[in-house]
Amino acid sequence: MPFSELGLSSAIQRALKDSGYKEPTPIQEKVIPLVLTHHDLLARAQTGSGKSASFVLPILELWTKTRGEGKGKIKALVLTPTRELTQQVAQTFVTMGAFLPKKPTVVSIIGGESIGDQLYAIQQGCDILVATSGRFLDVLRKKQMNLSHLEFFVLDEADKMLDLGFVEELDLILEAIPAKRQNLLFSATYPPKMEAIASKITKNPIHVTLEAQTPTVESIRQRVIEVNPENRGPLLRHLLNTEKWEQVLVFMANKRASDNIAAKFRKYGFSADSFNGDLLQEDRTYVLEQFKAKKIRILFATDIAARGLDIDGISCVINFDLPRSPADYIHRIGRTGRAGKSGVAVSFIGFGERDHFSLIEKRSSIKLPREQIAGYELIGTPPPKEKGPEPVKGKGKSKKDKARELAAKNANPSGNQ
Ligand code: AMP
Repeated sequence: MPFSELGLSSAIQRALKDSGYKEPTPIQEKVIPLVLTHHDLLARAQTGSGKSASFVLPILELWTKTRGEGKGKIKALVLTPTRELTQQVAQTFVTMGAFLPKKPTVVSIIGGESIGDQLYAIQQGCDILVATSGRFLDVLRKKQMNLSHLEFFVLDEADKMLDLGFVEELDLILEAIPAKRQNLLFSATYPPKMEAIASKITKNPIHVTLEAQTPTVESIRQRVIEVNPENRGPLLRHLLNTEKWEQVLVFMANKRASDNIAAKFRKYGFSADSFNGDLLQEDRTYVLEQFKAKKIRILFATDIAARGLDIDGISCVINFDLPRSPADYIHRIGRTGRAGKSGVAVSFIGFGERDHFSLIEKRSSIKLPREQIAGYELIGTPPPKEKGPEPVKGKGKSKKDKARELAAKNANPSGNQ
């Protein structure tokens, strides 16, 4: 189905053409008509599916019809879990609204920049506000934002917001916005906690799931390579030299590991950098631009930094350290194989990760063959599976337990809980 049959105006179709969008993705085909007919939605969608445009386009279309005169009033609020996603969504609104008779004023508010400046920008006139949930609350608490004209409330990658303590703050947000509004909720997964917040936010929502639920993930070749943990670095270098991967995103468990390994790979002559939450906002943006411009080949990143990254052309994602949850696994590998392109996702596992990876497979309904690479085979014997020995009765408390007790006592000297 072409975009022209989805009820979008010629100004928006022109922007689509300019951006090289030839036809809607499956999620866009389903979501756009439903938003245009004013439904609340619960959409199961992953990054890479084209979900941002699926709400941006119809919101712009409806907004043009009701925008009114004078200074912009906040008509749409989009909350996302990360700075990068916020900026990407805001940019999509700007790009897709570029040919409208009156362009929308889009303001994005993210942490790491002055609240005062952001509030000022909102007060100068804002039609569409895109924000990370945390920073939005900070601004909300200043009580200087007029949300009474709000018509659209969107949560993007809502499951990721749950991890960030969003549930606790949701009531504050719902109190601040009009009860009558259209709600669109996008999430890759729907854990029980998510159902609870969905019922708080939406009214008679239509559930949108796609038959082929993970079309982009299907275009990703998933591999699992067994390797001893200490051999992961050498194996990665070997693969980088032998496979034809251009841009490679490598997931690490923590910030320090991502910095250290990037420095090590640079020493070996690779074009590598790290991307983690310790970086200042401007450095994050810079590193990302360098990666997008293919000036960096290998980016070592942590989950929190990489959430929602919109980079096309990543040929390979490596799970150097495994993600904690199956949902994170899908999010991570979804960084490759975007917008119809194919990609590879490789997970390194040792003896210690076998069970955890099996769980990820089970939850994601996949089963992948285990590979070993000559020269980097998994050696040694798996540790015995039985539980550790029972604690010896009467044995003194461990140093850690003693320290914990002391800390608890200091924090609560009266002993009251
Ligand atoms: P998203 O899932 O919203 O993060 O989008 C993933 C990528 O697909 C982004 O780079 C979009 O610019 C691109 N994209 C979204 N919709 C289309 C489309 N209909 N045709 C081509 N590319 C698209």
